[in-house]
Amino acid sequence: MRMWSWMAWNGAGTPVANLPASDRRRGLRTRAAVLTAGTAMVLSVATPAVAERDEAAMALPSANMEAVLKAAQIDPRRADTALTPGSKASVSLVEEALTAKGLLDGKYVDGHFGTATISGYAAYQRSLGYTGIDASGLPGPASLRKLGSQRYTVTNLVSAGSRITYHGATMNTRTKAMLVAAEGLLGRQLSVTQGSYNPGGVGGSAGTHDGGGALDLSVRGMSTSTRTDVVRKLRNVGFAAWLRTPAQGNWAYHIHAIAVNDPDQSSAAQHQAGDYYLGYNGLASRARDDGPQVTKVTWEEYRRG
Ligand SMILES: [Zn+2]
Repeated sequence: MRMWSWMAWNGAGTPVANLPASDRRRGLRTRAAVLTAGTAMVLSVATPAVAERDEAAMALPSANMEAVLKAAQIDPRRADTALTPGSKASVSLVEEALTAKGLLDGKYVDGHFGTATISGYAAYQRSLGYTGIDASGLPGPASLRKLGSQRYTVTNLVSAGSRITYHGATMNTRTKAMLVAAEGLLGRQLSVTQGSYNPGGVGGSAGTHDGGGALDLSVRGMSTSTRTDVVRKLRNVGFAAWLRTPAQGNWAYHIHAIAVNDPDQSSAAQHQAGDYYLGYNGLASRARDDGPQVTKVTWEEYRRG
């Protein structure tokens, strides 16, 4: 597992082999730009235009995709316009770009990724031809980079990966890696009763499983303390996870989990991830979180330790 971690992934959490050719070339281009800039300094009298152009390209600000995703889940669920720590600068870049395209009123450029910014970003995604969960207002890697063209570069790219089957259920490779990590911490295999990308599959799920990052897990045969420990370990690796009880809805005991910062989340799943950070239980009642308290992290933060 660890070999896979450092061999197949770059620092930004994106499998290098999966990047489009243009991105793989970017590293080369960047090195070329540095060499050109170095040469230009030596020959500054002869080629000032080259030096200025390269300096401008290298001076683009960067938007951290992890920070943008976190704010886009949490901020729309806040009662006020408070900021998500670490997200203001990156979110502001996104908001400025939306405003430049006429998709967001300038008064909302404040670093708070609230409902107006979600609506503006969804409009941008639709303008690119995206529909359904791809136009939910939660930035994906492709739209975020396209929006930033000539304005900002994107760091800490988060990719949901491809859709695969694990434990008999559909999920993306990021969610599977998270589940495998939780199983490793627990020292046991878990049983998946509902996976992701299952629109309308289970009525009681209220759309939370329509997109990526969603799992339901069986608690059959588990003691109360074991159930709590499973929820805790899921939270430890980056899931917003709760034990659901028959008293809460039309369902049997199970664990419901949403992978925080999964760019494929449905809108309902985004709300649950945001509510998890804000201390709620992720249900329509918005009651207090009744699960084990942990330091809340994303999968990427967990992997960095
Ligand atoms: Zn569920």
